[in-house]
Amino acid sequence: MSVSVVLFTSDLRLHDHPPLQAALASADEVVPLFVLDDAVAHAGFAVPNRRAFLADCLTDLDASLRERGGRLIVRSGNVYAAVREVVLESDADEVHMSAGVSGYARRREEQLRRVLEAEGRRLHAHEGVIRAVAPDTLTPAHADHFAVFTPYWRQWDQTRQRTPLAAPRSVHVPGGLTGDPFPQRHEIVGISPALAAGGESEGRRLLFSWLNTGIDSYEEGHDDLAGDATSRLSPHLHFGTISPVEAVHRARAAASAGARAYVRQLCWRDFHHQVLAARPHTAHLDYRPHDDHWRNETSAGEEIEAWKRGLTGYPVVDAGMRQLSQEGWMHNRARLVTASFLTKTLYVDWRIGARHFLDLLVDGDIANNQLNWQWMAGTGTDTRPNRVLNPLLQGMRYDPDGQYVRRWVPELADLPGAAVHEPWKLQGLERARFEYPDPLVDLADARARFQQARTS
Ligand code: FAD
Repeated sequence: MSVSVVLFTSDLRLHDHPPLQAALASADEVVPLFVLDDAVAHAGFAVPNRRAFLADCLTDLDASLRERGGRLIVRSGNVYAAVREVVLESDADEVHMSAGVSGYARRREEQLRRVLEAEGRRLHAHEGVIRAVAPDTLTPAHADHFAVFTPYWRQWDQTRQRTPLAAPRSVHVPGGLTGDPFPQRHEIVGISPALAAGGESEGRRLLFSWLNTGIDSYEEGHDDLAGDATSRLSPHLHFGTISPVEAVHRARAAASAGARAYVRQLCWRDFHHQVLAARPHTAHLDYRPHDDHWRNETSAGEEIEAWKRGLTGYPVVDAGMRQLSQEGWMHNRARLVTASFLTKTLYVDWRIGARHFLDLLVDGDIANNQLNWQWMAGTGTDTRPNRVLNPLLQGMRYDPDGQYVRRWVPELADLPGAAVHEPWKLQGLERARFEYPDPLVDLADARARFQQARTS
């Protein structure tokens, strides 16, 4: 009996899973393995919201494998030791996994390859599983990666993508293998109260509901904060409970202007992945340095705290930050506004904001989080790095009736219409009726500070 191991990482699904298909094609029996990797926990990535979502994903993956006669083996500890043990215990010839792009994922792949080769076994890392288009598939004429989105999008859009694969009908797992207990959501402390459920079954339910009822109005609706009319599929793309190739394929079939705008947005994900793959240091260092002397916890500690707690006195900023803590997710428009506020209005180091987002976001992802933060801080790929979003105007424009603010900032729930965006204008008794801070900074002063920092 030949055996292959499939090491699941950020691809926690059975549909459209090339490593699993390859393993099933090359061996009689397959070991579906997930390792709760100590290194990920020690690096600060195993935060409660993502651990809880992961727990759902593993439980669901195991259930789907059981429906097909298999099961998921979970091991904890050092990933290299765990994979080696499972390979030796099952006498597997090959390990199949998805190729990654972060510095850690690439080191893991290289090290696993060495560990397995020392035992006379092979590692196959499959591209096009975690991203729709692999990072090194597209390169511009005179550079190793695309630094600007639009030309990348043009080429990406022309790239042929494979047809999504069906889920396997049956999976035979060798007997006798033991696994560690699965993490359970209810055992995890510190989860956001309204965190979404994880797992491939839930991801597919959301995907089909999005394709049937949401995608066609994406173009008009995606910036409407209160309308909440985006797909909310980002955590499923992050954990791989839906396949980006399948999402693109099905959206293209929908063939509406909304579907086209959605596919373009999915391309941003791959764009950031190819930047990170080519410039791994941009997870921590500026992509385009501007000699910023950012403020930090020592020089702006109270302001950073007010931002994190949603108490800046700018309602749309506070609404976004409170959505983040309540849901472990934030609307994209609110991410743009809150990140601009921290980096440009408060002139605080983008890494402080990025860390806070990574501590809470269920879709928290090194490539997309760090590079979107850099975009907003003007140290990334934005070709207009000094633009500043005005939180008042952003609120009026993208939450014109103030419903988003009222939803997340209950102190302001009684203020009518757009007045909710300028509570500081109320006087006397009217102002005394609600407890809400005055603005943390004057916007004109803040803008002048930022512009001076960037021009001096
Ligand atoms: P939709 O509007 O339905 O978009 C479809 C998909 O496209 C998303 O699910 C996502 O995978 C991708 N996408 C959309 N916008 C972007 C973008 N700007 N960059 C990359 N991919 C995008 N996204 C993450 O997945 N993880 C993060 O850690 C993350 N951090 C962010 C931090 C900041 C400061 C900002 C401004 C944006 C960040 N984003 C991040 C991008 C974006 O905000 C989210 O992907 C989006 O809000 C998720 O909601 P959705 O699935 O409903 O998106």
